[in-house]
Amino acid sequence: MLLKTEREAVLFFSKKLLSSGLVKGSGGNISLSNPEKTMMAVTPSGLAYDVMNLDDIVVIDMAGHKLEGDLKPTSEIAFHIALQNLRPEIHAVVHTHSDYATALACLGWELPAVHYLIGFGGKKVSVAPYATYGTQELSDNICSVIGRSNAVLMANHGLVCVGTDLKQAFTTAEMIEYVSHLYLLTKSVGEPAILSDQQMDEVIEKFKHYGK
Ligand SMILES: [Zn+2]
Repeated sequence: MLLKTEREAVLFFSKKLLSSGLVKGSGGNISLSNPEKTMMAVTPSGLAYDVMNLDDIVVIDMAGHKLEGDLKPTSEIAFHIALQNLRPEIHAVVHTHSDYATALACLGWELPAVHYLIGFGGKKVSVAPYATYGTQELSDNICSVIGRSNAVLMANHGLVCVGTDLKQAFTTAEMIEYVSHLYLLTKSVGEPAILSDQQMDEVIEKFKHYGK
């Protein structure tokens, strides 16, 4: 079996995506490439996470050709490949339709530094312009706004997070959902205080040493 370790990680975090409430049914998708970045394990298209097995995870090359698996890869394969090809340190991508991040994306609002935990994604989270799901245009729009950050809101669609591994990409998706919730809560009763660039620089520097 190709990429057994990566497939196991994709399956583990797929189940976690469902149990954590970040997606419903078969929504969202996950990918993880091998260290040499010649192949990638991705979730299949349209299969519910609760019945997903190791065999259902699809292995593709970095141009999107299927190498192993009976099912079709996720319909969002274009941005998974493009993001992993964009920056050398990106090996994992997690895409969700989590409620609060998606609500912001539907408003077309970027997420500012209303809480220091946004630092998992960057100093702010930008919104990629809307394009139909599964298209090269959507992938291009995401890549055009991500810069050095680890998260992008997708207008009228959802959230995409990247990382050096799936734990980082998944944790970022959880944190951005949490901060999006806080932002909408605070906006509903007043005007939240936003952390400065310098305050966020200090947080992001501390995060580099967190847990090491
Ligand atoms: Zn989606």
